[in-house]
Amino acid sequence: MTLPDQYGDFSAQTPNYARYGIEFVRGEGVNLYDGDGVPYLDFLSGLGVNNLGHCHPAVVEAIREQAGQLIHTSNLFWTEPAELLARELTGRSIGDAKAFFCNSGAEANEAAIKLARAHASGQGSPAREIVVIERAFHGRTMGALSATPQEDKQAPFAPLVHGFVTAAPTVESVTNAITGQTCAVLLEPVQGEGGVRVIPDEVLIAAREACDSVGALLIFDEVQCGLSRTGSLFAFQQTLVEPDVITLAKALAGGLPIGAMIAAEHCAGSLKPGYHGSTFGGNLVACAAALAALPVLASDDLLASVVETGNYLQARLGELGEVSGRGLMLGVRLEGREDARELVQRLLTEQRLIANATDDSTLRFLPPLIATKDDVDEAVAALNAVL
Ligand SMILES: *Cc1c(COP(=O)(O)O)cnc(C)c1O
Repeated sequence: MTLPDQYGDFSAQTPNYARYGIEFVRGEGVNLYDGDGVPYLDFLSGLGVNNLGHCHPAVVEAIREQAGQLIHTSNLFWTEPAELLARELTGRSIGDAKAFFCNSGAEANEAAIKLARAHASGQGSPAREIVVIERAFHGRTMGALSATPQEDKQAPFAPLVHGFVTAAPTVESVTNAITGQTCAVLLEPVQGEGGVRVIPDEVLIAAREACDSVGALLIFDEVQCGLSRTGSLFAFQQTLVEPDVITLAKALAGGLPIGAMIAAEHCAGSLKPGYHGSTFGGNLVACAAALAALPVLASDDLLASVVETGNYLQARLGELGEVSGRGLMLGVRLEGREDARELVQRLLTEQRLIANATDDSTLRFLPPLIATKDDVDEAVAALNAVL
C-alpha cells in the first residue's frame, strides 16, 4: 500500500523538513500506529526522545495530574517540580551542582555557552573561545549552530557567532586547540547527528587535562547520548572524566519539551540574576513528566536491559557492516552502499520500521530503551529484507 503524501503539496508549515507522507495518530511502547491502526516498529524514538517508549503510563499519569493542578507560573516564583527535578539531576550526576531549565537541546547549549563566557569574564580572564569537535551537532539556534561545524547547516546563516574553534577528535588536535584564549570545550561524548561516533577516552582525558590547565570549562552535550541511551544514566559515567557542565533535553520529560543545563557549583554562580532566562523554563508539567520519567530511566533493570539489548543489536548489526556507538545508540556503516537514505524510506514503507541515515552509507538506530531482543530480531529481519 502506498500512502498518500497527505499535506506535502499544500502544507501551511514552512518547508524546512523533508517529511514522510505518513501520519501517526497513536503510540504505545515501541510502536506507532497510523490512522488505519497499522503498527510501525519505532527504532528512532522520535529522534532519541521516547526512551521509555510511547506514552509511558507513569509519564502520562504525571502529566494528567500536574496539568489539572497548575501548568505555568514563570520563573518569578519557586515551584516544587522544578526544584525537585534540579535536586534529582544534580544528585544523580556531578553532585555539587545546580540546574537551569529551558525547553530544548539548543537552548541548553546556549545556556552552557553563555555560562562559559560569563565564567571567564567574571574571573577577569580574556578567554572567550569555545573548542568544538569536527562533525559535532549542538542545535540550530545561532550560538548552538555556530558550535556545529557542518558547512551545509551553517553556510546560509552567516555571519555566525564568533569564537568557535574546531578540533579533530584526536589528542593532538584537541590539545593544540585549547589555549589561554579558551573558556570552554563543548563536545558530545558520543556524537549523534554527525554519524554515531564515540569520542575516544584518551581524547576526553586530554580535553579534561588541558581545560584544567587553562581554567576552561569542560561541557558535555548529553542531549542525545545522556539519559540512559548508552547504558548509564549519564554518558560521562562510562568515561574516565567528569565534565563541569552537562546539557540535556530530548528524553528528559518522556516526550514533552524540556532542556536542562547542569553546572558544577564552582561555575554555576557565574549566571547571576538577570544574566539568562526562559519564560517557559522549568514549566511545571514538563518538570512533573521528567520527575516521573527519571526514576524509570535510572533504574538498574532498565540500564541492564540497555546494555544487554544494545550488545545484542550491535552483534546483529555487525553481520551487516561496521557498527559504531554504545548501548542503544548505534550506527552501522554499510560497506560499498551509498543508498542509506533510500533504504530508510524502504524500511518505512515496505517493512514498517522507523530508522534513519546520518549519511549515504550509515544507518542509525535509537530504539526505545524498553526494546526487547524480539524487537531487535524483528528490526534486523526488516533490514535483511530490504538489503
Ligand atoms: C538534538 C540535539 C541537540 C538539539 O536539540 P533540540 O532540542 O533540537 O534543540 C543538541 N545536541 C545534540 C547532541 C542533539 O542530539
